[in-house]
Amino acid sequence: MAVHSKHPETLALHAGWRADATTGSVAVPIHQTTSYQFNSPEHAANLFALKEFGNIYTRIMNPTTDVLEQRLAALEGGVGALAVASGQAASALSIQNLARAGDNVVASTDLYGGTWNLFANTLKDQGIEVRFVDPADPQAFARATDERTRAYYAETLPNPKLRVFPIAEVAAIGRGFGIPLIMDNTAAPLLARPFEHGAAVVIYSTTKYIGGHGTSIGGVIIDGGNFDWQAFPARQPLLNTPDASYHGAVWTEAVKPLGPIAYIIRARVVLLRDLGAALSPFNAFQIIQGLETLPLRITRHSENALAVVKFLSARADVVKVIHPSLAKGFEKERADKYLSGGMGGLVGFELAGGREAGAKFISALQMFYHVANIGDARSLAIHPASTTHSQMPAEEQRAAGVSEGYVRLSIGLEHIDDILADLAQALDQAK
Ligand code: PLP
Repeated sequence: MAVHSKHPETLALHAGWRADATTGSVAVPIHQTTSYQFNSPEHAANLFALKEFGNIYTRIMNPTTDVLEQRLAALEGGVGALAVASGQAASALSIQNLARAGDNVVASTDLYGGTWNLFANTLKDQGIEVRFVDPADPQAFARATDERTRAYYAETLPNPKLRVFPIAEVAAIGRGFGIPLIMDNTAAPLLARPFEHGAAVVIYSTTKYIGGHGTSIGGVIIDGGNFDWQAFPARQPLLNTPDASYHGAVWTEAVKPLGPIAYIIRARVVLLRDLGAALSPFNAFQIIQGLETLPLRITRHSENALAVVKFLSARADVVKVIHPSLAKGFEKERADKYLSGGMGGLVGFELAGGREAGAKFISALQMFYHVANIGDARSLAIHPASTTHSQMPAEEQRAAGVSEGYVRLSIGLEHIDDILADLAQALDQAK
């Protein structure tokens, strides 16, 4: 019996799975298999021809991973999802599913460093140009668009600047051209609802808040099913022209009877088949365990972070606190509009003592882990100027929002008194 609900708390526990038909297992089993027995030659032929859906080979689909995909699609309000080996694989495939050599994508300047490298170097080498524009002005996306632009790409809550992206404004511009907006919602799952604002595709690094326990790398692409690819055949050729790698299938036509899933089906049966960045069933299981408590955790992350913001704002040795709740003007309006479920667990701040104080503060932390990660149940900290951004010239660091004394915190789920006590003693030692 399937459980239907509109509430994330319920969907996180029930969507996509009830109990195992054979064993009665309530927990989702780990189907650690590479391949699946076909019922008959006809069954096998139908599966390969996509005449019926079923399991063929774990590089392309797996029953454990399928539950994760269904659950994430239900939570996000999408029509289908594809889980992959990492957040990086999710962002790469989300673009390669629409753009090929000679095409371009317009992306926000405010991106995770790994995404930036992928876009500025690797995709460029593959002939896909990524044009970076400042999201302060949504019209910059329109200005950078030409007839070979296939997608827009941005992060909802990018760090270190934590400037919330104008989802509806840019999605609407894209829809006028037949260009979908792909949102990386990694830092704001459940807090922001990109499909409700017109985004067509949402991706996550499930490594962060969705997994939550810091055990498993993974990623997902979710199809909103809300974009009319067929209305723009010249703009979106990969979904509207015969695919030589699949008996000439035209994806918007081939899967029409199954719903508006052309984008996510192509990502699975063409890109995952050919590029092979499959999630392991064990990692899918681990990520499901995390996902089941995401609604509770993400709320607590947000609450704890707000208490940290209040604490840091009152310190004389902190010159600036960076958090969406402290944004001003149009940036505040965007934060309130898009982070309707809470402002998330990321907090930045600048120490009056600059680079030296930043490094001292990090060394003095006793409970916070010093790691290049976000979204763990534990509190995490990093001083970008001496680590992740240390190779950049000072000017580029500043443009990226990283001053010498900037510290990034990912606030965890420990008791707030312990979080504040660790910050207080480390700040005292950094003076
Ligand atoms: N997107 C964002 C916003 C991230 O923070 C990260 C990783 O830090 C990624 C994507 C890449 O995810 P993964 O590390 O799972 O490949």
